[in-house]
Amino acid sequence: MADKHHSLVRQTYLPYGKQWIDDDDIQAVIDVLKSDYLTTGPAVERFEKAFSQYVDAKYAVAFSNGTAALHGACFVAGIEPGDEVITTPMTFVASANCVLYQGGKPVFADINQRTYNIDVEKVKQLITPKTRAVIPVDFTGQPCDLDELLSIAKQHNLVVIEDAAHALGATYKDRKVGSISDMTMFSLHPVKHMTTGEGGIITTNNKDYYEKLVQFRSHGITRERSKLLHDHGPWYYEMQHLGFNYRMTDIQAALGLSQLKKVEQFIKIRKKYVSIYNEAFRGWREFVSPFQALDRQSSWHLYVIRLNLEALTGSRKEVFEALQHENIGVNVHYIPVYYQPYYQELGYQKGLCPNAEEVYEAIITLPLFPAMSERDVQDVITAVKKIISLYSR
Ligand SMILES: *Cc1c(COP(=O)(O)O)cnc(C)c1O
Repeated sequence: MADKHHSLVRQTYLPYGKQWIDDDDIQAVIDVLKSDYLTTGPAVERFEKAFSQYVDAKYAVAFSNGTAALHGACFVAGIEPGDEVITTPMTFVASANCVLYQGGKPVFADINQRTYNIDVEKVKQLITPKTRAVIPVDFTGQPCDLDELLSIAKQHNLVVIEDAAHALGATYKDRKVGSISDMTMFSLHPVKHMTTGEGGIITTNNKDYYEKLVQFRSHGITRERSKLLHDHGPWYYEMQHLGFNYRMTDIQAALGLSQLKKVEQFIKIRKKYVSIYNEAFRGWREFVSPFQALDRQSSWHLYVIRLNLEALTGSRKEVFEALQHENIGVNVHYIPVYYQPYYQELGYQKGLCPNAEEVYEAIITLPLFPAMSERDVQDVITAVKKIISLYSR
């Protein structure tokens, strides 16, 4: 037993992603807890302002989580029952579920085989008179072909809601993600670039979208005198559409403000670890490292390798389990959304997006987060080389 343990690359489990929380973050939360407002206070607005400045957008609206934020974006984009919204299958279910919340129909466009991002040509082919919006996802932090998508969207009068849950701090042709699409969503879940525990935020340059998002986030209620249809007096407020309680608390926002100060540092560490991985994995024919386009800078939420199954004697599952056994917290991003039983029951069938299906069969996500050490990075490299050599044909 002792021997068997000794032969493992790692003795302790290394997750694929994890938050970085330091004393400044903890103090920021304590300060709010001692203040007058736990929610609907000044911290949320401060956070929104700082966040919008960071991504070069005019406005930001914070939500209780990224999924709620996507729901808000679909609402203000005017998605209604019967409307179609084109998105990618290579994403978390939330990118498509937000369309279903509005009674719309997600239409899945296949991915590009190199970037794993949505294929613009496929998007074009799927546009119908019912199409209202496109939800491209900046997979692993690498921005989609935004210029092409925005130009198609303009021609067909579509709203572009960019799911940038992976892409905080990324740039596209020297422009910040968050300042480009009609609306951009960022998730503030602990595995993402920075966290508020749970949290999400939409950035936009459109004042009308901004005001509607604020109202939607809080029951569809407004207190702004200029917007009221009636006015009974100073106590009066009006619910003008069916909204939700999707508010972010001041506790979360204070944590967010504190985290935002460090986000550039977080991304720098991620980039450094990616270059260490790239260097170590260069030249292996059993798997390929992520593709990097030259005109955009990923902010590296995930490091996804793709196995060359023909060069291996083992399956993806065997390689995955062997890495898990080495205490490397591997993962798979993503199971094509429409493989989910709920989507299958809605009538989506396997075979819909062959590229996404083929990529899904061969990908493994390796650990990548700023709170891991260089030693951890080396452990991952050692384990990958060991297991891949074991299964090399
Ligand atoms: C994390 C994530 C979401 C959802 O964000 P939550 O804050 O967890 O609700 C949506 N889309 C993608 C691609 C994500 O990775």
